[in-house]
Amino acid sequence: MERIALLGSTGSIGVQTLDIIRNHPDRFSISALVAHSRWQQLAEQAREFGAECVAIGDERHYDNLRKALADTHTEVLAGSDAINHVASSYRSDTLVNALVGYAGLHPTARAIESGKRIALANKETLVVGGDIIMAAARRKGVEIVPIDSEHSAIMQCLEGEQRKSIRNLILTCSGGALRDIPKQCLDSVTPELALKHPQWSMGAKITIDSATLVNKGFEVIEARWLFDIEPERIKVVIHPQSIVHSMVEYTDGAVKAQLGTADMHTPISYALLYPERAATATEQFSILDHPTLTFSAVDHDKYPALGIAYETLERGGTASCTMNGANEVAVAAFLAHKCGYLDIVGAIRYALDNATFVAHPTLDDYDAANSEARSLAERYLKL
Ligand code: NDP
Ligand code: MG
Repeated sequence: MERIALLGSTGSIGVQTLDIIRNHPDRFSISALVAHSRWQQLAEQAREFGAECVAIGDERHYDNLRKALADTHTEVLAGSDAINHVASSYRSDTLVNALVGYAGLHPTARAIESGKRIALANKETLVVGGDIIMAAARRKGVEIVPIDSEHSAIMQCLEGEQRKSIRNLILTCSGGALRDIPKQCLDSVTPELALKHPQWSMGAKITIDSATLVNKGFEVIEARWLFDIEPERIKVVIHPQSIVHSMVEYTDGAVKAQLGTADMHTPISYALLYPERAATATEQFSILDHPTLTFSAVDHDKYPALGIAYETLERGGTASCTMNGANEVAVAAFLAHKCGYLDIVGAIRYALDNATFVAHPTLDDYDAANSEARSLAERYLKL
């Protein structure tokens, strides 16, 4: 029985992870569940899965959560220290990190230090600190398996291949909710419009990141560290149908792709069960339902964030962390109608142009860079 600590259990990935675990009761048990604000949902999940421990990030909900679970044996904790404690606890074998944002970095680092296997949805972990996180994982012999669909696809395409045969990784990109909106109309885009993702149903932050292509930029950074490959060998193509989840081009001219319907249950179950596969897919995939698969180049004028992400990789150090921190503040402001759509990239640019740069950061340096990026974005957005 593999004991799982699931961080972000009340979110989009968290709930789908629990679906997989529910379908494999002989294989997985839940040792701990972590959420931030949705304490009622967390309490229900803890009951259903008999969690040994729950932690709620926002300490204001501690009393309610404790009362809701008073008649159970579940230990109830609160605050970010508690989340780090759960991530490093001896009670679990695997950490599924489905937190959103910078909050995911330290729990991943703690889980690595305690030698746990990691199924990683929280891409911000690798965007911010991919260099030192992957180095720590190698040092500890810890396996980090991606949940992000593109990286799961690449991992599947790389099975059985030799590193030296890889020419390029090709990440596919749906184009997000604003794919068909002309560039000159972007300044009037509302959060409601940007939240209408054509293919995937996801949390609000990643849906906005998909509309700006910040998400694809982050995925380039994620791939750079996860697969230890130079940024110039990571390509991005627009593929509106989201059937080809990504590809690997090899030195002999062969290209391997992984296809399927846009459903995160597949990459989540692959990460949890690897190298086995789940037997739970209910619908059969028919390629005949998708007779037209199209691919096109990214319009960098319309989507400057993708180029900025490559630029942060070139600069190295704390640059990607700065991009991430500014983006988090700007996306939250955009969702709250406190800034416009184009201000998101404006805030990122401003933070990168004005932030302190640390070439060889530690985890503490990332904390400082994140705080500074957030302040710079707030200043830019006049929050
Ligand atoms: P959601 O917003 O749906 O869920 C986020 C989860 O994290 C919730 O459980 C939330 O708790 C919790 N959380 C938020 N902030 C904090 C915090 N400060 N401290 C502790 N917990 C916190 O996000 P998604 O599930 O969409 O995304 C999760 C991660 O997976 C992101 O990094 C995203 O980029 C990545 N990802 C998501 C995909 C998807 O299909 N959704 C696809 C590929 C990657 P609560 O709700 O209780 O407040
Ligand atoms: Mg993705």
